[in-house]
Amino acid sequence: MSFNFFVKSNITFGRGASGKLPEIISGYGLRKVMIVYDGGVKAAGIAEKIVAQVEESGVDYVIFDGVIPNPTNEVVENAAEIAKNEKVEGFVAVGGGSSIDLAKAVNVLMTNPGRIGEYGGMNMVKNACLPLIAIPTTAGTSSEITNVSALIDTEKVIKYVVIDNKIVASDVIADPEFTKTMPVSVTAATGMDAITHAVESYISNMASPLTEYNSLKGLQILYENLPKAVENGADMDAREQMMLGCIITGFGFSNANLGFVHAIAHTLSAHFGLAHGMANACVLPYVMAYNAEACPEKMVELAKAIGLETSGDLKKDRYLLSDALLELCRRLKIRTLKEQNVPEEAFDRLAEDVLREPVLGFNPRQGVTKEDVIEILKKAY
Ligand SMILES: [Zn+2]
Repeated sequence: MSFNFFVKSNITFGRGASGKLPEIISGYGLRKVMIVYDGGVKAAGIAEKIVAQVEESGVDYVIFDGVIPNPTNEVVENAAEIAKNEKVEGFVAVGGGSSIDLAKAVNVLMTNPGRIGEYGGMNMVKNACLPLIAIPTTAGTSSEITNVSALIDTEKVIKYVVIDNKIVASDVIADPEFTKTMPVSVTAATGMDAITHAVESYISNMASPLTEYNSLKGLQILYENLPKAVENGADMDAREQMMLGCIITGFGFSNANLGFVHAIAHTLSAHFGLAHGMANACVLPYVMAYNAEACPEKMVELAKAIGLETSGDLKKDRYLLSDALLELCRRLKIRTLKEQNVPEEAFDRLAEDVLREPVLGFNPRQGVTKEDVIEILKKAY
């Protein structure tokens, strides 16, 4: 047995953990930081709290509040220009995956030359990055933990990823209080993204015993708590567990990568701007049913982890997980592709682009065809 497992961030977890920000930021001895967030974080009153904490630390700062969902190369380069002009020495990223992914990408350009598109793929970043403190406000992407930044190349119409251990946040402040204001549909979509990460990383052909341990435990926690968090947003125990589940899962998928579900979701977001979590969730059950024949034993282990009763007949039991995920999507009111305004006429072109997704290389069932993709898109329609 041989594998590599990378962990970097110092994690400060718990309700009220954001109060530790002045102390953490002071520890870096920085002169100026860029605080990165979006309109939702500002509207929820979270941005104000973070800015006050940075002020308390005595560190000078500049704000970048132009984060958009599915951030583009243009937004990254615009933010990097500001950060360079302002001579920032570190980042505080507050928000969901978009804010943290954007900060990671901007950070690459602070110490590495050229355009961000040149760093797409695995391990393309040459020089170490500046300190980055990630403060998640959703429980889904695990971007606060992972070595991934997902970006849109508007010219090529693709969602691509920069995957590199150098871009991992140096500090994570995970405060479940910050997820309390998430709207119901965002809680459901981001939570389903986290469940997708757990499942895809568990069956990935890059999985190792350490990633499998994290993915399985992550799924167990997320599956139990997501319905509770969606159906009662004030359930802080469920919110706390969701945040914990995301961190545990993040360790798994940051090291084992993802698969076919993300290949489809990236393509849907690039072409039609679908929210990442919703795009994953609506195809997840069908892709898992498709993958079941390639890794039946693992499908049964996942089913057992979420408390499903098995019959001992592998041919039947391998579909228990995909059936349960379909049921969960219905319970959480996950929208179909039709409801997300994806035109059926686009399936052909979408399928061609899905086959070009590098993340497909980690999927346990190889040899995916255009017809396979179209079949799954039709089921999710
Ligand atoms: Zn994802």
